[in-house]
Amino acid sequence: MNCFCDPVTNRGKAGRKHQRFELRGYLASKMEPPERALAKRVVFLLLNLKNKMEENKLDALRHSAEHILTQAMERLWPNLILKAMGPSIETGFYFDFDTTNGLKVTEADFPKIEKEMRKIVQSNLPFEKMIVTAKKAREMFVDNPYKLEWIEKAAKDKEEISVYWTGDPGKGGSFVDVCAGPHVAKTIEVKVFKLLSVAGAYWHGDEKNKMLTRIYGTAFETQEELDKYVSQVEEAKKRDHRKLGKEMDLFSFSDLVGSGLPLYSPKGAFVRRMLNNFVEDMQFSEGYTQVWTPQIAKADLFKTSGHYDKYKDSMFRVVSNFSDEEMFLKPMNCPQHTQIYAAQARSYRDLPLRFTDFAMLYRDEKPGELSGLGRTRGFSQDDCHIFCREDQVDAEIDMALQMTKKIMGTFGFKYKYRLSTRDPQHPEKYLGDPKVWDKVEKWAEVIMERNKIEYFQGPGEAAFYAPKMDLIATDALGRDWQLSTVQIDFVMPERFGLVYNDQDGTQKHPVMLHRAIIGSAERMMMILIEHFAGAFPVWISPVQVSVLPISEKTMEYSKKVSDELKKQGIRVELNTDADSLGKKIRNAEAAKIPYMLIIGEKEAEAKQVSVRQRGQKDLGTMTVADFAAKVVKEVEEKSL
Ligand SMILES: [Zn+2]
Ligand SMILES: [Zn+2]
Repeated sequence: MNCFCDPVTNRGKAGRKHQRFELRGYLASKMEPPERALAKRVVFLLLNLKNKMEENKLDALRHSAEHILTQAMERLWPNLILKAMGPSIETGFYFDFDTTNGLKVTEADFPKIEKEMRKIVQSNLPFEKMIVTAKKAREMFVDNPYKLEWIEKAAKDKEEISVYWTGDPGKGGSFVDVCAGPHVAKTIEVKVFKLLSVAGAYWHGDEKNKMLTRIYGTAFETQEELDKYVSQVEEAKKRDHRKLGKEMDLFSFSDLVGSGLPLYSPKGAFVRRMLNNFVEDMQFSEGYTQVWTPQIAKADLFKTSGHYDKYKDSMFRVVSNFSDEEMFLKPMNCPQHTQIYAAQARSYRDLPLRFTDFAMLYRDEKPGELSGLGRTRGFSQDDCHIFCREDQVDAEIDMALQMTKKIMGTFGFKYKYRLSTRDPQHPEKYLGDPKVWDKVEKWAEVIMERNKIEYFQGPGEAAFYAPKMDLIATDALGRDWQLSTVQIDFVMPERFGLVYNDQDGTQKHPVMLHRAIIGSAERMMMILIEHFAGAFPVWISPVQVSVLPISEKTMEYSKKVSDELKKQGIRVELNTDADSLGKKIRNAEAAKIPYMLIIGEKEAEAKQVSVRQRGQKDLGTMTVADFAAKVVKEVEEKSL
């Protein structure tokens, strides 16, 4: 389910490839309207088409590599594996095998498997699609419960069942799987591939089911692209927030508390609070006001909002000992905020009302899909709901976009927007009047253009109640993450019967804008840890300075230095351990503390400090006052 306040913001990476618009801008600048408008439209459509074709090609390539992997596995261990399922994914492909018949596949087997895959590639076998009846499909896969489950579902839904053959159908050495495609024409096209890792995965991601063996791999069109990807993966492993989070003592998980429920240690809690304060301070200065709402609410609230129908399976049910009311932990703040609006009579003069809420939210995620801080069951987001008149929408959104720009700039993220619209194939997924949707989707496009924002289209990515302007940020490793979102919602105010008295004496529905900037604080923590490889900028570092006396003799002066810095509001740690200086420096480096002050007798005598910057940069000696001024300035400017 994809609804923000709903919240993709709590989820994985931004799903789609995007579109750059330099060419569009160039052409536009050469012409005058209306030719300009038409040219922009044409170029936009062409780029979208080209993009789509490239995406499909890579998808077919990876999907084909996945079949080749499965074929190789069947050749190597014909009686020891059962193929379950596997898709092509954004970064490659994976396939799940049932190996419970006594096989243990590890990464040590990869050279052997890749060798077998290469043989299949070199044999230049054709991929051939065949439509079959459910009866025929059942016969073909009679020994495979995973395939039979899939076939029964397709038969029940009256879907066409197709199989793909690799090699001559039915001949020795050929391979077949239930599959809707797409594939490349022949195996020889899959020249550049690599197996990446192996992991356990429950069938359907449900821990009540059997644990399967999942093999991840990837395929590209060129070796260069593969090499670049592999080095990116290596770097990502080094920066993994779960690894750094433990080393830096930021957060942990406990089996007793439950999976997907992060526990923050003092340092992690500090960073999290700094993030929230940063956004909150900016919001308050722009006229936003904080509200507070409970963690649980009656099912009726979610029935009215539409979440009950569309989102119930992702909500935690709460059971009372004394009443049989159906209740849920709240997965988003929007429905509650409508009730704060509804609590008073509102006039056109009262609007806009801007409610912010950093409340904890809970979603019932599949255990197999939980992942560090990237996908949790409990999280909070910088969630705001603006209730305004239609003539105020533009100004409110412009303000939200400006705040977003400042915040993204502070963290050094490049970004672009995705205009998330309805899925034209599934109009039934959306609530409200299609005419209103048309209007709002067009409106969002005009807002993007007016703010000169680089964006691309995301059909099918809208929330069930509104289109979204989703910000996709690119981190230091070139990975994309969806963070901010702005949504223009006409549906919810109407469903809740929210009104205001307008100037002409009539009652009108307000427009509800849903808006988040950093999105989920947990996901933002993960992204920042990996983006900065744990080396947070000074303003957000839990410890900014570590004071390192060389020996006991300089302890007293070191303490004075540390007290002096504390007075200036600098977060200092005085290292009183008996370790060698080398070890003290190594520990401070591992904790990613931005500055180390090394204090020997020479420094103590001269009333100075020797400054070392994180990453082995020696900045020489300076007075305590000069050093403090340097740090204070960096904090004020939120320097990177
Ligand atoms: Zn397939
Ligand atoms: Zn919302």
